[in-house]
Amino acid sequence: MSLLLDGKAVAASYEKELSRRVTALKARNGGQTPILATILVGDDPASATYVAMKGNACRRVGMDSSAIRLPASATTADVLAEIDRLNADPTVHGILLQHPVPAHVDERLCFDRISIAKDVDGVTSHGFGLMALGEPAFGSATPAGIMRLLAHYELDVAGKRAVVVGRSPILGKPMAFMLSNANATVTLCHSKTVNLEAEIRRAQIVVGAVGKPKFIRSEWISDGAIVIDAGYHPGGIGDIDLDGLIERCAAVTPVPGGVGPMTISTLIAQTADAAERAYPVA
Ligand code: NAP
Repeated sequence: MSLLLDGKAVAASYEKELSRRVTALKARNGGQTPILATILVGDDPASATYVAMKGNACRRVGMDSSAIRLPASATTADVLAEIDRLNADPTVHGILLQHPVPAHVDERLCFDRISIAKDVDGVTSHGFGLMALGEPAFGSATPAGIMRLLAHYELDVAGKRAVVVGRSPILGKPMAFMLSNANATVTLCHSKTVNLEAEIRRAQIVVGAVGKPKFIRSEWISDGAIVIDAGYHPGGIGDIDLDGLIERCAAVTPVPGGVGPMTISTLIAQTADAAERAYPVA
């Protein structure tokens, strides 16, 4: 029977520690509440739900969120103007631009406008570059959350063969660098990979970040592997077919309740980090 990597429980335990940190922070900054500003462009219901969950998580630990909603017709210039305003606002410690934005908005340009000090979702090219080089940076929240989950369960990735399926800028690509920085030997797969099944069969760690329900078949995964499913689809289905895996893999993330809660936990932890840097201990 495999170890269940219970992101929901781990995130809840981290929230207790975060609440204590936020209380201490408020005591030394005149009671000012740290704020995560969220920007939602358009009215995609799933994105609205994710933003609401992030705001709720802030409030659970004593921080606040300022939710900015822009219409689907908002232009790149409109989003940039909002980010400029938040960058200049000293009461805002973190900025989250909810991905994806409508296709006509230049998401990369908007991400890169976020000040590095407030890039608590780890989406800027600058932050990505620092992270990739192993320098201090806020990591992209989902892969950084996965690394925290692995660390929590003391699963050492050093020397292991890891296969990441999916190379998006916010998930697969930073995941590959984080695992490499932790000394795993990493293969980064994508839609042009030839014989994905063979790549996955060799893996001791498999990360599914494809965005296709149950795309990675359970029989492709070797016995004893650590299985991380970052995917989430309606009905609580991930990117990996977990049927029969629980009996024979070393560790597995449930869907839901695995990677998702760790993403939010990492985002709010990094917001607290940013706020602490704004009000350092004297
Ligand atoms: P994305 O931007 O759509 O990227 C998907 C990646 O999968 C691309 O790199 C693509 O390759 C690759 N891919 C597509 N078809 C493939 C195939 N047949 N074989 C191998 N690779 C293939 O998706 P994303 O934003 O990274 O999200 C991935 C999943 O993670 C989704 O299910 C999403 O809901 C989930 N997610 C969860 C969280 C969370 O907090 N739990 C956060 C973010 C995302 P190419 O580069 O070649 O096109």
